[in-house]
Amino acid sequence: MNKQFINGEWVDAISKQTYSLINPATEETIGTMSFASTEDTRVAIEAAHEAFKAWSKTTPYTRADILKKASNYIRENILVFAKDMVLESGKPFAEAKGEWTVAANLFEWYAEEAKRSYGKVIPTNRLDKRSTVIWQPMGVIGIITAWNFPAYNPARAWAAALAAGCSVVAKPSESTPLSAFHMTKALTEAGLPKGVLNLIIGDAPMIGEEMLSNPLLKKISFTGSTRVGKILMDGASKTHTKLSLELGGNAPVLIFDDVDVEVIAKASAIARFRNNGQVCIAAQRFYVHKNIYKKFTEAVTKYVSQLKVGTGFEDGVNVGPLITKKQKENVVDLLKKAKTENAEILTGGNTPEHLPNGYFLQPAVVANLTQQSVLARNEIFGPVLPIFSFEDLDDAIAKANDTEYGLAAYVFTNHLKTAILASERLAFGIVGINEWAPHGTESPFGGWNHSGQGHESGSDGLYEYMEKKLISIAV
Ligand code: ADP
Repeated sequence: MNKQFINGEWVDAISKQTYSLINPATEETIGTMSFASTEDTRVAIEAAHEAFKAWSKTTPYTRADILKKASNYIRENILVFAKDMVLESGKPFAEAKGEWTVAANLFEWYAEEAKRSYGKVIPTNRLDKRSTVIWQPMGVIGIITAWNFPAYNPARAWAAALAAGCSVVAKPSESTPLSAFHMTKALTEAGLPKGVLNLIIGDAPMIGEEMLSNPLLKKISFTGSTRVGKILMDGASKTHTKLSLELGGNAPVLIFDDVDVEVIAKASAIARFRNNGQVCIAAQRFYVHKNIYKKFTEAVTKYVSQLKVGTGFEDGVNVGPLITKKQKENVVDLLKKAKTENAEILTGGNTPEHLPNGYFLQPAVVANLTQQSVLARNEIFGPVLPIFSFEDLDDAIAKANDTEYGLAAYVFTNHLKTAILASERLAFGIVGINEWAPHGTESPFGGWNHSGQGHESGSDGLYEYMEKKLISIAV
Protein backbone atom coordinates (compact mmCIF):
# COMPACT_ATOMS: atom_id res chain seq x y z
CA MET A 1 0.00 0.00 0.00
CA ASN A 2 3.01 2.32 0.20
CA LYS A 3 1.95 4.03 -3.02
CA GLN A 4 -0.33 6.80 -4.21
CA PHE A 5 -4.04 6.01 -4.40
CA ILE A 6 -5.42 7.66 -7.52
CA ASN A 7 -8.71 6.95 -9.25
CA GLY A 8 -9.20 3.72 -7.33
CA GLU A 9 -5.72 2.27 -7.98
CA TRP A 10 -2.57 2.03 -5.85
CA VAL A 11 0.11 3.43 -8.19
CA ASP A 12 3.74 4.55 -8.06
CA ALA A 13 4.53 8.24 -8.28
CA ILE A 14 4.86 9.23 -11.95
CA SER A 15 8.49 10.27 -11.37
CA LYS A 16 9.13 6.90 -9.59
CA GLN A 17 10.69 8.92 -6.75
CA THR A 18 10.67 7.36 -3.26
CA TYR A 19 11.67 8.23 0.29
CA SER A 20 12.43 6.33 3.48
CA LEU A 21 9.89 6.42 6.28
CA ILE A 22 11.67 6.61 9.65
CA ASN A 23 10.52 5.26 13.02
CA PRO A 24 11.08 8.21 15.41
CA ALA A 25 11.63 5.86 18.37
CA THR A 26 14.50 3.91 16.79
CA GLU A 27 15.60 5.96 13.76
CA GLU A 28 15.23 2.74 11.75
CA THR A 29 13.61 2.67 8.32
CA ILE A 30 10.02 1.41 8.39
CA GLY A 31 9.72 1.21 4.62
CA THR A 32 10.21 2.85 1.25
CA MET A 33 7.37 5.15 0.26
CA SER A 34 6.41 6.53 -3.11
CA PHE A 35 6.93 10.33 -3.34
CA ALA A 36 4.48 12.29 -5.51
CA SER A 37 4.67 15.79 -6.90
CA THR A 38 2.87 18.16 -9.26
CA GLU A 39 1.85 15.77 -12.04
CA ASP A 40 0.44 13.13 -9.66
CA THR A 41 -1.59 15.84 -7.92
CA ARG A 42 -2.98 17.07 -11.23
CA VAL A 43 -4.05 13.54 -12.24
CA ALA A 44 -5.64 13.02 -8.80
CA ILE A 45 -7.56 16.31 -9.00
CA GLU A 46 -8.86 15.36 -12.45
CA ALA A 47 -9.98 11.94 -11.16
CA ALA A 48 -11.72 13.59 -8.22
CA HIS A 49 -13.41 16.07 -10.55
CA GLU A 50 -14.76 13.24 -12.69
CA ALA A 51 -15.91 11.23 -9.64
CA PHE A 52 -17.63 14.27 -8.13
CA LYS A 53 -20.23 14.22 -10.90
CA ALA A 54 -21.83 11.00 -9.66
CA TRP A 55 -20.88 11.19 -5.97
CA SER A 56 -22.47 14.63 -5.51
CA LYS A 57 -25.75 13.21 -6.84
CA THR A 58 -25.94 10.34 -4.33
CA THR A 59 -28.26 10.82 -1.38
CA PRO A 60 -26.79 11.34 2.08
CA TYR A 61 -28.29 7.95 2.95
CA THR A 62 -26.14 6.20 0.33
CA ARG A 63 -23.06 8.06 1.55
CA ALA A 64 -23.92 7.25 5.18
CA ASP A 65 -23.98 3.52 4.42
CA ILE A 66 -20.43 3.68 3.08
CA LEU A 67 -19.08 5.91 5.85
CA LYS A 68 -20.61 3.70 8.54
CA LYS A 69 -19.06 0.61 6.98
CA ALA A 70 -15.70 2.40 6.97
CA SER A 71 -16.19 3.25 10.62
CA ASN A 72 -16.87 -0.41 11.43
CA TYR A 73 -13.84 -1.51 9.41
CA ILE A 74 -11.67 0.81 11.52
CA ARG A 75 -13.12 -0.59 14.75
CA GLU A 76 -12.55 -4.18 13.57
CA ASN A 77 -8.91 -3.51 12.63
CA ILE A 78 -8.04 -1.09 15.38
CA LEU A 79 -5.16 -3.09 16.88
CA VAL A 80 -3.31 -3.35 13.56
CA PHE A 81 -3.97 0.31 12.72
CA ALA A 82 -2.84 1.49 16.17
CA LYS A 83 0.36 -0.54 15.92
CA ASP A 84 1.31 1.13 12.66
CA MET A 85 0.50 4.53 14.12
CA VAL A 86 2.92 3.86 16.97
CA LEU A 87 5.61 2.88 14.45
CA GLU A 88 5.26 6.05 12.38
CA SER A 89 4.51 8.61 15.12
CA GLY A 90 6.10 7.17 18.28
CA LYS A 91 3.04 7.89 20.42
CA PRO A 92 2.09 5.43 23.21
CA PHE A 93 -0.08 2.53 22.00
CA ALA A 94 -3.02 3.50 24.23
CA GLU A 95 -3.06 7.01 22.71
CA ALA A 96 -2.91 5.54 19.19
CA LYS A 97 -5.82 3.23 19.92
CA GLY A 98 -7.83 6.08 21.42
CA GLU A 99 -7.15 8.19 18.35
CA TRP A 100 -8.41 5.47 15.99
CA THR A 101 -11.58 5.17 18.07
CA VAL A 102 -12.19 8.89 17.60
CA ALA A 103 -11.52 8.53 13.86
CA ALA A 104 -14.17 5.77 13.68
CA ASN A 105 -16.55 7.96 15.68
CA LEU A 106 -16.04 10.82 13.20
CA PHE A 107 -16.99 8.67 10.19
CA GLU A 108 -20.07 7.42 12.03
CA TRP A 109 -21.11 10.87 13.22
CA TYR A 110 -20.80 12.54 9.81
CA ALA A 111 -22.63 9.62 8.19
CA GLU A 112 -25.64 10.67 10.27
CA GLU A 113 -25.15 14.42 10.18
CA ALA A 114 -25.25 14.78 6.37
CA LYS A 115 -28.84 13.50 6.49
CA ARG A 116 -29.70 16.63 8.45
CA SER A 117 -28.18 19.29 6.21
CA TYR A 118 -31.51 21.09 6.17
CA GLY A 119 -32.15 24.16 4.09
CA LYS A 120 -34.89 26.64 4.92
CA VAL A 121 -37.94 28.42 3.49
CA ILE A 122 -37.91 32.18 4.04
CA PRO A 123 -41.17 34.17 4.21
CA THR A 124 -40.99 37.09 1.72
CA ASN A 125 -42.88 40.40 1.55
CA ARG A 126 -44.57 39.44 -1.77
CA LEU A 127 -47.37 37.00 -2.51
CA ASP A 128 -45.85 36.12 -5.91
CA LYS A 129 -42.44 35.09 -4.60
CA ARG A 130 -41.03 32.08 -2.72
CA SER A 131 -37.52 31.99 -1.25
CA THR A 132 -35.72 28.82 -0.25
CA VAL A 133 -32.16 28.08 0.76
CA ILE A 134 -30.45 24.75 0.03
CA TRP A 135 -26.98 23.34 0.67
CA GLN A 136 -24.95 21.67 -2.07
CA PRO A 137 -21.52 19.98 -2.06
CA MET A 138 -18.70 22.31 -3.01
CA GLY A 139 -16.69 20.10 -5.39
CA VAL A 140 -13.16 18.72 -5.22
CA ILE A 141 -11.54 19.38 -1.84
CA GLY A 142 -7.78 19.28 -1.16
CA ILE A 143 -7.13 18.08 2.41
CA ILE A 144 -3.62 18.69 3.76
CA THR A 145 -2.95 17.40 7.27
CA ALA A 146 -0.16 17.33 9.84
CA TRP A 147 1.60 14.38 11.46
CA ASN A 148 0.67 14.98 15.11
CA PHE A 149 -2.64 13.09 14.78
CA PRO A 150 -2.11 10.76 11.81
CA ALA A 151 -5.71 9.44 11.92
CA TYR A 152 -7.72 12.11 13.72
CA ASN A 153 -6.60 15.02 11.53
CA PRO A 154 -7.50 13.37 8.20
CA ALA A 155 -10.65 11.66 9.58
CA ARG A 156 -12.11 14.96 10.76
CA ALA A 157 -11.86 16.54 7.32
CA TRP A 158 -12.30 13.46 5.07
CA ALA A 159 -15.46 12.33 6.90
CA ALA A 160 -17.11 15.75 6.69
CA ALA A 161 -16.16 16.39 3.05
CA LEU A 162 -17.24 12.92 1.87
CA ALA A 163 -20.49 13.09 3.86
CA ALA A 164 -21.22 16.47 2.27
CA GLY A 165 -20.95 14.87 -1.20
CA CYS A 166 -17.52 16.24 -2.11
CA SER A 167 -14.66 14.30 -3.65
CA VAL A 168 -11.23 14.53 -2.06
CA VAL A 169 -7.54 14.76 -2.89
CA ALA A 170 -5.86 14.10 0.45
CA LYS A 171 -2.27 14.91 1.31
CA PRO A 172 -1.37 13.62 4.77
CA SER A 173 2.05 14.35 6.23
CA GLU A 174 4.89 12.42 4.61
CA SER A 175 6.03 11.58 8.19
CA THR A 176 2.85 9.58 8.94
CA PRO A 177 1.41 8.03 5.76
CA LEU A 178 0.59 4.57 7.22
CA SER A 179 -2.53 5.70 9.06
CA ALA A 180 -3.78 7.42 5.92
CA PHE A 181 -3.21 4.22 3.93
CA HIS A 182 -5.32 2.29 6.44
CA MET A 183 -8.09 4.88 6.37
CA THR A 184 -8.12 4.77 2.57
CA LYS A 185 -8.39 0.98 2.71
CA ALA A 186 -11.29 1.26 5.19
CA LEU A 187 -13.17 3.52 2.78
CA THR A 188 -12.50 1.44 -0.33
CA GLU A 189 -13.48 -1.79 1.48
CA ALA A 190 -16.67 0.03 2.49
CA GLY A 191 -17.49 0.60 -1.18
CA LEU A 192 -16.40 4.18 -1.84
CA PRO A 193 -16.51 4.61 -5.64
CA LYS A 194 -13.22 5.10 -7.47
CA GLY A 195 -11.89 8.64 -7.69
CA VAL A 196 -13.98 9.94 -4.77
CA LEU A 197 -10.96 9.76 -2.47
CA ASN A 198 -7.43 10.11 -3.80
CA LEU A 199 -4.33 9.94 -1.63
CA ILE A 200 -1.12 11.76 -2.48
CA ILE A 201 2.07 11.53 -0.41
CA GLY A 202 5.10 13.53 -1.48
CA ASP A 203 6.56 16.97 -2.12
CA ALA A 204 4.42 19.25 0.05
CA PRO A 205 5.16 22.63 -1.57
CA MET A 206 4.64 21.23 -5.10
CA ILE A 207 1.42 19.44 -4.16
CA GLY A 208 0.17 22.56 -2.38
CA GLU A 209 1.04 24.73 -5.37
CA GLU A 210 -0.89 22.47 -7.76
CA MET A 211 -3.89 22.43 -5.43
CA LEU A 212 -3.84 26.23 -5.26
CA SER A 213 -3.52 26.80 -8.99
CA ASN A 214 -5.77 24.05 -10.38
CA PRO A 215 -9.21 25.57 -11.02
CA LEU A 216 -10.90 22.16 -10.65
CA LEU A 217 -10.09 22.16 -6.92
CA LYS A 218 -12.53 24.34 -4.98
CA LYS A 219 -11.22 24.36 -1.45
CA ILE A 220 -8.20 23.45 0.66
CA SER A 221 -8.74 22.24 4.20
CA PHE A 222 -5.42 22.56 6.01
CA THR A 223 -4.27 21.38 9.44
CA GLY A 224 -0.71 22.44 10.23
CA SER A 225 1.54 25.32 11.11
CA THR A 226 0.66 29.00 10.91
CA ARG A 227 3.73 29.36 8.66
CA VAL A 228 2.29 27.07 5.95
CA GLY A 229 -1.22 28.47 6.53
CA LYS A 230 0.11 31.86 5.48
CA ILE A 231 1.72 30.40 2.34
CA LEU A 232 -1.67 28.94 1.39
CA MET A 233 -3.42 32.26 2.07
CA ASP A 234 -0.98 34.02 -0.25
CA GLY A 235 -1.51 31.45 -3.01
CA ALA A 236 -5.29 31.11 -2.70
CA SER A 237 -6.01 34.33 -4.53
CA LYS A 238 -4.85 32.86 -7.87
CA THR A 239 -7.94 30.78 -8.50
CA HIS A 240 -10.00 32.04 -5.58
CA THR A 241 -9.47 28.72 -3.78
CA LYS A 242 -11.44 28.70 -0.54
CA LEU A 243 -9.57 27.83 2.66
CA SER A 244 -10.29 26.27 6.04
CA LEU A 245 -7.24 26.66 8.23
CA GLU A 246 -6.61 24.87 11.50
CA LEU A 247 -3.26 26.35 12.52
CA GLY A 248 -1.03 26.67 15.56
CA GLY A 249 -1.92 27.51 19.13
CA ASN A 250 -0.30 28.71 22.33
CA ALA A 251 -2.91 27.84 24.93
CA PRO A 252 -2.87 29.56 28.31
CA VAL A 253 -3.94 27.68 31.44
CA LEU A 254 -5.23 29.88 34.26
CA ILE A 255 -5.02 28.22 37.65
CA PHE A 256 -6.74 30.21 40.42
CA ASP A 257 -5.92 29.91 44.11
CA ASP A 258 -9.16 28.18 45.14
CA VAL A 259 -8.30 24.85 43.48
CA ASP A 260 -6.84 21.69 45.00
CA VAL A 261 -3.24 22.37 43.97
CA GLU A 262 -2.04 18.79 44.26
CA VAL A 263 -4.86 17.46 42.05
CA ILE A 264 -4.39 20.11 39.36
CA ALA A 265 -0.60 19.72 39.39
CA LYS A 266 -0.91 15.97 38.86
CA ALA A 267 -3.42 16.44 36.03
CA SER A 268 -1.25 19.18 34.46
CA ALA A 269 1.69 16.78 34.25
CA ILE A 270 -0.41 14.37 32.20
CA ALA A 271 -2.31 16.91 30.08
CA ARG A 272 0.70 18.97 29.05
CA PHE A 273 2.62 15.92 27.85
CA ARG A 274 -0.15 14.14 25.95
CA ASN A 275 1.32 13.33 22.52
CA ASN A 276 4.54 14.88 23.84
CA GLY A 277 3.03 18.38 23.73
CA GLN A 278 2.68 18.08 19.95
CA VAL A 279 -0.95 19.18 20.00
CA CYS A 280 -2.30 22.48 18.66
CA ILE A 281 -4.71 22.85 21.61
CA ALA A 282 -2.10 21.62 24.11
CA ALA A 283 -2.14 23.44 27.43
CA GLN A 284 1.09 25.41 27.12
CA ARG A 285 1.51 28.59 29.16
CA PHE A 286 0.71 27.78 32.80
CA TYR A 287 -0.40 30.96 34.61
CA VAL A 288 -0.67 30.22 38.31
CA HIS A 289 -2.08 32.55 40.99
CA LYS A 290 0.79 34.03 43.05
CA ASN A 291 -0.62 32.51 46.31
CA ILE A 292 -0.18 28.95 45.01
CA TYR A 293 2.72 29.48 42.58
CA LYS A 294 5.36 27.87 44.82
CA LYS A 295 3.20 24.94 45.89
CA PHE A 296 2.06 24.25 42.30
CA THR A 297 5.59 24.52 40.92
CA GLU A 298 6.97 22.03 43.43
CA ALA A 299 4.11 19.58 42.92
CA VAL A 300 4.12 19.71 39.12
CA THR A 301 7.91 19.28 39.03
CA LYS A 302 7.56 16.16 41.19
CA TYR A 303 4.87 14.65 38.93
CA VAL A 304 6.60 15.55 35.65
CA SER A 305 9.87 13.98 36.82
CA GLN A 306 7.92 10.74 37.44
CA LEU A 307 6.61 10.49 33.85
CA LYS A 308 7.85 7.42 32.02
CA VAL A 309 9.55 8.11 28.69
CA GLY A 310 9.95 5.27 26.21
CA THR A 311 8.80 3.63 23.01
CA GLY A 312 5.08 3.46 22.37
CA PHE A 313 4.93 -0.31 22.87
CA GLU A 314 6.32 -0.34 26.42
CA ASP A 315 3.88 -0.74 29.30
CA GLY A 316 3.08 2.38 31.26
CA VAL A 317 4.87 4.80 28.94
CA ASN A 318 3.47 8.35 29.16
CA VAL A 319 5.74 10.09 26.68
CA GLY A 320 7.22 8.84 23.39
CA PRO A 321 9.77 10.43 21.06
CA LEU A 322 9.26 13.66 19.15
CA ILE A 323 8.31 13.12 15.54
CA THR A 324 11.58 14.13 13.84
CA LYS A 325 15.15 15.13 14.62
CA LYS A 326 14.27 18.66 13.49
CA GLN A 327 11.33 18.85 15.89
CA LYS A 328 13.58 17.78 18.77
CA GLU A 329 16.19 20.35 17.76
CA ASN A 330 13.53 23.09 17.70
CA VAL A 331 12.52 22.31 21.28
CA VAL A 332 16.12 22.01 22.52
CA ASP A 333 16.86 25.33 20.85
CA LEU A 334 13.92 27.03 22.63
CA LEU A 335 15.18 25.69 25.97
CA LYS A 336 18.69 26.99 25.25
CA LYS A 337 17.33 30.44 24.44
CA ALA A 338 15.15 30.40 27.57
CA LYS A 339 18.27 29.66 29.67
CA THR A 340 19.98 32.75 28.27
CA GLU A 341 16.93 34.69 29.52
CA ASN A 342 17.60 33.35 33.07
CA ALA A 343 14.88 30.73 32.96
CA GLU A 344 15.26 27.95 35.49
CA ILE A 345 14.86 24.38 34.24
CA LEU A 346 13.48 22.52 37.27
CA THR A 347 13.48 19.08 35.68
CA GLY A 348 14.12 17.44 32.29
CA GLY A 349 15.14 19.04 29.00
CA ASN A 350 17.88 16.50 28.30
CA THR A 351 18.06 13.31 26.21
CA PRO A 352 17.20 10.41 28.55
CA GLU A 353 20.32 8.29 29.14
CA HIS A 354 18.53 5.00 28.50
CA LEU A 355 17.22 6.23 25.11
CA PRO A 356 20.22 7.41 23.07
CA ASN A 357 18.51 6.52 19.77
CA GLY A 358 15.26 8.07 18.61
CA TYR A 359 14.11 11.63 19.16
CA PHE A 360 13.45 11.45 22.90
CA LEU A 361 13.53 14.36 25.29
CA GLN A 362 12.96 14.19 29.05
CA PRO A 363 9.81 16.21 29.92
CA ALA A 364 10.81 19.62 31.27
CA VAL A 365 9.36 22.11 33.74
CA VAL A 366 10.66 25.67 33.42
CA ALA A 367 10.16 28.60 35.79
CA ASN A 368 11.37 32.17 36.31
CA LEU A 369 9.90 33.38 33.04
CA THR A 370 8.52 36.67 31.77
CA GLN A 371 5.87 37.38 29.14
CA GLN A 372 8.71 38.14 26.71
CA SER A 373 10.32 34.72 27.06
CA VAL A 374 10.65 32.53 23.97
CA LEU A 375 8.56 30.00 25.89
CA ALA A 376 5.69 32.48 26.10
CA ARG A 377 5.92 33.87 22.56
CA ASN A 378 6.32 30.63 20.57
CA GLU A 379 4.23 27.53 20.09
CA ILE A 380 6.59 24.97 21.70
CA PHE A 381 5.07 21.75 20.25
CA GLY A 382 7.19 19.65 22.57
CA PRO A 383 7.57 18.35 26.15
CA VAL A 384 8.11 21.59 28.05
CA LEU A 385 5.83 23.00 30.76
CA PRO A 386 6.58 26.69 31.42
CA ILE A 387 5.15 28.31 34.57
CA PHE A 388 4.26 31.99 35.02
CA SER A 389 2.37 33.72 37.81
CA PHE A 390 -0.49 36.24 37.97
CA GLU A 391 -1.92 38.64 40.54
CA ASP A 392 -5.66 38.64 39.84
CA LEU A 393 -8.25 37.97 37.12
CA ASP A 394 -7.42 41.13 35.14
CA ASP A 395 -3.71 40.32 35.16
CA ALA A 396 -4.39 36.69 34.19
CA ILE A 397 -6.60 37.64 31.23
CA ALA A 398 -4.17 40.29 29.98
CA LYS A 399 -1.28 37.80 30.05
CA ALA A 400 -3.32 34.95 28.55
CA ASN A 401 -4.55 37.10 25.65
CA ASP A 402 -1.06 38.47 24.99
CA THR A 403 -0.40 36.18 22.00
CA GLU A 404 -1.00 36.22 18.27
CA TYR A 405 -2.67 32.80 18.56
CA GLY A 406 -6.27 32.17 19.59
CA LEU A 407 -7.07 28.48 19.52
CA ALA A 408 -7.65 27.09 23.02
CA ALA A 409 -7.49 28.26 26.63
CA TYR A 410 -8.11 26.53 29.96
CA VAL A 411 -9.35 27.80 33.32
CA PHE A 412 -9.23 26.01 36.66
CA THR A 413 -11.31 27.46 39.48
CA ASN A 414 -14.21 26.47 41.74
CA HIS A 415 -15.50 30.04 41.76
CA LEU A 416 -18.46 30.36 39.39
CA LYS A 417 -18.07 34.09 38.76
CA THR A 418 -14.35 33.73 37.96
CA ALA A 419 -15.11 30.86 35.55
CA ILE A 420 -17.81 32.82 33.73
CA LEU A 421 -15.85 36.07 33.49
CA ALA A 422 -12.65 34.32 32.41
CA SER A 423 -14.41 32.25 29.73
CA GLU A 424 -16.05 35.38 28.30
CA ARG A 425 -12.89 37.49 28.29
CA LEU A 426 -10.44 34.97 26.84
CA ALA A 427 -9.85 35.66 23.11
CA PHE A 428 -9.78 32.03 22.00
CA GLY A 429 -12.04 29.79 19.89
CA ILE A 430 -12.17 27.01 22.50
CA VAL A 431 -12.24 27.41 26.29
CA GLY A 432 -12.10 24.49 28.72
CA ILE A 433 -13.35 25.16 32.25
CA ASN A 434 -12.02 22.64 34.76
CA GLU A 435 -11.21 20.18 31.99
CA TRP A 436 -8.41 19.39 29.58
CA ALA A 437 -10.34 17.97 26.59
CA PRO A 438 -12.85 20.64 25.58
CA HIS A 439 -13.35 19.40 22.02
CA GLY A 440 -15.58 16.60 20.72
CA THR A 441 -16.75 15.01 17.49
CA GLU A 442 -20.02 16.94 17.75
CA SER A 443 -18.66 20.39 18.66
CA PRO A 444 -17.03 23.15 16.58
CA PHE A 445 -13.24 23.30 16.62
CA GLY A 446 -11.62 26.46 15.27
CA GLY A 447 -9.15 29.19 16.09
CA TRP A 448 -9.30 32.97 16.31
CA ASN A 449 -6.62 35.36 15.16
CA HIS A 450 -3.49 33.61 13.74
CA SER A 451 -4.83 30.19 14.74
CA GLY A 452 -6.95 29.83 11.65
CA GLN A 453 -10.27 30.31 9.95
CA GLY A 454 -13.35 28.12 9.62
CA HIS A 455 -14.35 25.22 11.84
CA GLU A 456 -13.98 21.48 11.88
CA SER A 457 -16.06 18.87 13.74
CA GLY A 458 -19.72 19.17 14.50
CA SER A 459 -22.26 20.43 12.01
CA ASP A 460 -20.08 23.52 11.33
CA GLY A 461 -17.50 21.10 9.93
CA LEU A 462 -20.01 19.71 7.43
CA TYR A 463 -21.00 23.13 6.08
CA GLU A 464 -17.33 23.97 5.45
CA TYR A 465 -17.70 21.64 2.45
CA MET A 466 -21.08 22.84 1.21
CA GLU A 467 -22.21 25.94 -0.63
CA LYS A 468 -25.39 27.78 0.34
CA LYS A 469 -27.78 28.50 -2.52
CA LEU A 470 -30.76 30.88 -2.51
CA ILE A 471 -33.55 29.81 -4.86
CA SER A 472 -36.09 32.56 -5.47
CA ILE A 473 -39.23 31.59 -7.39
CA ALA A 474 -41.80 33.89 -8.98
CA VAL A 475 -45.27 32.29 -8.83
P1 ADP B 1 4.47 20.66 10.69
O1 ADP B 1 5.74 21.47 10.74
O2 ADP B 1 3.75 20.58 11.95
O3 ADP B 1 4.54 19.41 9.87
P2 ADP B 1 3.44 21.89 8.55
O4 ADP B 1 2.52 23.03 8.52
O5 ADP B 1 4.81 22.05 8.01
O6 ADP B 1 3.47 21.53 10.00
O7 ADP B 1 2.80 20.59 7.92
C1 ADP B 1 1.43 20.32 7.85
C2 ADP B 1 1.14 19.74 6.51
O8 ADP B 1 1.43 20.73 5.54
C3 ADP B 1 1.97 18.52 6.15
O9 ADP B 1 1.18 17.60 5.41
C4 ADP B 1 3.07 19.12 5.28
O10 ADP B 1 3.62 18.18 4.39
C5 ADP B 1 2.27 20.19 4.54
N1 ADP B 1 3.06 21.29 3.97
C6 ADP B 1 4.28 21.73 4.33
N2 ADP B 1 4.68 22.74 3.53
C7 ADP B 1 3.67 22.95 2.63
C8 ADP B 1 3.45 23.86 1.55
N3 ADP B 1 4.36 24.76 1.21
N4 ADP B 1 2.31 23.76 0.86
C9 ADP B 1 1.37 22.87 1.21
N5 ADP B 1 1.50 21.98 2.21
C10 ADP B 1 2.63 22.02 2.93
